[in-house]
Amino acid sequence: MQEEKGTISIHTENIFPVIKKFLYSDNEIFLRELVSNAVDASQKIKRLASLGQYNGEVGDLTIQVKVDEAAKTITISDNGIGMTAEEIKKYINQIAFSGATEFMEKFKEANDANEIIGRFGLGFYSAFMVADQVEIDSLSYQEGAEPAHWVCDGSTSYEISAGQRTTRGTDVILHINEESLEFLQKQRIQQILNKYCKFLPIPIQFGTKSESEPDGEDADGKPKYKTIEVPNIINITHPAWTKSPSELTDEDYIKFYHELYPHTMDEPLFWIHLNVDYPFNLTGILYFPKVKNELEIQRNKIQLYSRQVFITDEVKDIVPEFLMLLQGVIDSPDIPLNVSRSFLQADSNVKKINNYITKKVADKLNEIFKSDRKGFEEKWPDISLFIKYGMLSDEKFAEKANDFCLLQNVNKEYYTFKEYYEKVKDIQVDKDGNIVYLYTQDKSLQDGYISAALAKGYDVLNFDGPLDTHFAGYVEQHGGEKIQMKRVDSDVIDKLIPKDEQIEQTLSEDESKKATEVFEKAISRPDMKVEVDALNASDLPVSVTIDEFMRRMKDMAKTGGG
Ligand code: ADP
Ligand code: MG
Repeated sequence: MQEEKGTISIHTENIFPVIKKFLYSDNEIFLRELVSNAVDASQKIKRLASLGQYNGEVGDLTIQVKVDEAAKTITISDNGIGMTAEEIKKYINQIAFSGATEFMEKFKEANDANEIIGRFGLGFYSAFMVADQVEIDSLSYQEGAEPAHWVCDGSTSYEISAGQRTTRGTDVILHINEESLEFLQKQRIQQILNKYCKFLPIPIQFGTKSESEPDGEDADGKPKYKTIEVPNIINITHPAWTKSPSELTDEDYIKFYHELYPHTMDEPLFWIHLNVDYPFNLTGILYFPKVKNELEIQRNKIQLYSRQVFITDEVKDIVPEFLMLLQGVIDSPDIPLNVSRSFLQADSNVKKINNYITKKVADKLNEIFKSDRKGFEEKWPDISLFIKYGMLSDEKFAEKANDFCLLQNVNKEYYTFKEYYEKVKDIQVDKDGNIVYLYTQDKSLQDGYISAALAKGYDVLNFDGPLDTHFAGYVEQHGGEKIQMKRVDSDVIDKLIPKDEQIEQTLSEDESKKATEVFEKAISRPDMKVEVDALNASDLPVSVTIDEFMRRMKDMAKTGGG
């Protein structure tokens, strides 16, 4: 057969429905996509102005989201860069041709690249998941530009004509389809905006809201209030994680925590500000909540953002599993917007991010441990569950945590692995030379045994946490050499031989030789062997055994056989 080379052709009319249906798992994200395009358009005009390439007034860039229930439309309006008819044809009509990417390439050196959200040139088409017709009305910032109007019904044909906009920017008007009428409810839109757009960098207004304002005093001199309508701005444009740690106080971090989780009363124990730009881009703040039991964990999850746009709080593949107990935000432009699970798992950046976060968390804990041991010990009851879980499930974390993981004894004293080993290694030794760590799982039930152990000068560890049964095995393997964990009520206490006692009981070689002679003389049986244990004091310091050879000879004589 003849060799042949060619190009696979794609028919847009076939691929279009596929994009609409499968590119995004959740149709509510149309709003995220259109609002982020509006944010991009606004950032671009700011950037052009700062580069001196736009001399007009930048003005108010607030993005407006409006719902018209009667007309069944949602409109997203911005005062951004706008588009000419030519640009609409280029950027909108060509699927997967991203104007954002082109813009970035043009103005790369100018500023940091992270301001612009768009990347793939696919977001706009998510509008057709909820609309059966989409209109664009746009006026470009360029001098002498004419407003342009574009309309498309979701097929591959479109119409372009003169537009109506008199000021710079773009209106995108969605004619909501019959299956998507839920998006005409104001509450639903408010909820979606809250979810995805809460920390976008350009103000986003969704209608107005009522607020009460002081209005003089009434006849009794009490303050009076009146209700006024104020713009309903749904976002915080400069969330804490986008700032540098040096700009932020503890109060700022706590305030942001409550912005992130408005329904939580608790305060976080401490936090880690993440900030890397090589080999991948990542910022964020992770909070350590108080975690008393595993049930509480999933309430406030870590949120994943990409350039301040909310992506998901299913961060399973990005955040190491044991860190799922943490809260906060991670923002990385290197995690693509339209992510799917299998894609994430395969993505090499995701793996790196995972390792980085683990390392940062371990380093931060170590830093607190070193700089404020007392504070660390105070937090221990709240963080121990999470640390132990991490040590049991993540080798890399465990390696570091071996230095700061604490063991607590029944007297509520804390020891690192090393410190504890030093504490008991000469006292709690069994006859095979194992270092025996005594622990209790239930202080009240094992109280008698604990007192007995303490009376003998031994130490007893508290191992009563939910993971401690597993963790005992971990300590045996990683806490030091020849450690054996024994519950305080097992029969071990009476069998421990403190090292100093061993020395007292042990005879010198010369002494034991003499002792052997004394015993042999007294027994005076050549078939019997006397051993005085010179080096290892045991329960039987002197043993008298029949010599193996002699015994066999005797046995044979008795049975008369040979
Ligand atoms: P992306 O945002 O990934 O580039 P989109 O499909 O969301 O892809 O948008 C395609 C392009 O259309 C954008 O890159 C931009 O050039 C242009 N565009 C979309 N919305 C607007 C808008 N509101 N103002 C100006 N240009 C826009
Ligand atoms: Mg986009």
